[in-house]
Amino acid sequence: MKFTRLALYFVALIVFVQACKTTDSGVISYDPPGRTTETQELDYHHKRTIGIAETGVWATNEFVGGRMNDFYRVDGDHYRIKIHPENAPINWSSWYSIKLWSETDQTITLELAYEDGYHRYIPKLSHDSVNWTALDTTQFVHDREAGTATFSLDLNSDPVWVSAQELFLSEHIYAWVDEISALEFVETSVIGQSHLGKDISKVVVNKTGNPDAPMIIVTGRQHPPEIPGSMALEVFMNTFLSDEPEAMAFRSRYQVVAYPLLNPDGVDGGHWRHNHGGVDLNRDWRDFNQPETRAVAEDLLEYKERDVFVLYGLDFHSTIYDVFYTMNSDIETNIPGLSDRWLEGISAILPNYEIREEPFGVATPVAKNWKYHTFNNNGVTYEVGDNTPRELVADVARAAAISLMREVLQLEVSSR
Ligand SMILES: [Zn+2]
Repeated sequence: MKFTRLALYFVALIVFVQACKTTDSGVISYDPPGRTTETQELDYHHKRTIGIAETGVWATNEFVGGRMNDFYRVDGDHYRIKIHPENAPINWSSWYSIKLWSETDQTITLELAYEDGYHRYIPKLSHDSVNWTALDTTQFVHDREAGTATFSLDLNSDPVWVSAQELFLSEHIYAWVDEISALEFVETSVIGQSHLGKDISKVVVNKTGNPDAPMIIVTGRQHPPEIPGSMALEVFMNTFLSDEPEAMAFRSRYQVVAYPLLNPDGVDGGHWRHNHGGVDLNRDWRDFNQPETRAVAEDLLEYKERDVFVLYGLDFHSTIYDVFYTMNSDIETNIPGLSDRWLEGISAILPNYEIREEPFGVATPVAKNWKYHTFNNNGVTYEVGDNTPRELVADVARAAAISLMREVLQLEVSSR
């Protein structure tokens, strides 16, 4: 019996690892057969604050990015938070974010229990929703059979956020876009709206004076809980805005065209994976049933019409570890071997950082592959590990930007 359970656990783990390896760029797709990207109805997520009268313990999801579907006392000091996805079936990216407090000082045992998914993200605590501390693995019990996580939590009248990752919401990304728009070589615009009418922002970094200068395309945050990917995108972009010699040389010859937030509704709605149309946006790059993907593709097709040369494409995500999903080496592109040289350049800057690369074909309807089919460029799905230390996330993103600039500055690519 013990052995069977262990075997089942390993099978589940392998299936999970395969799903993670393949969901963003995959050949073997996690997606259920027959799935489309046509708009689906979302399961209703009550925004509410729940108090336990006998013990004075409270929990709420009434904040942007919150997710809690139910909260109750199981017995004694044991409380359970129920967490459901926005709709199912869905990839196992079980986002939760709750705020708790107590009328008196007490320690509770909090269990995170899921519908249509299992525990994935290490709980992070905060008293101001700005500074976060992750529990270490000795501080919680991850029951892999039940798919739950349980830990002790000290409560008092000062509320504590318990969240799957740091809250990194649309307001943060919009504020960053706003801030960099003050730079003379940055132009920002709104190219479309989400289902709920939120802006799909565009950032262009270009000092050439030529709107058709060869360009790098950056996309991000299609998947709401993938916060380390969003952090990496911001550092990557900021490096192009910096006074580094490579950045100044790059800006005078080339441009970066970036769409940093494709799924603002999912981010602010505390979704696990989908947009407000109940769809995985990174499966919609063929049918374009969703307004967010459509807006970005239509904007990029204007560059295609003007025959603008695309140097490279990057799409930022997160999964269980850092990995670069590149393209199989037999795929012919406009700059042969660029991904290899780019990754070698990252290694040269960060010799102690181990690069993990997994190449794929270009058949699936993900952003990277659509860019390739449209512009014939090399590209990557840039995956940052859920638990990668945030300073390392920034170091790698900076090195990735510098290495890419160095490589393309050596080329003789001219403007049309
Ligand atoms: Zn993703």
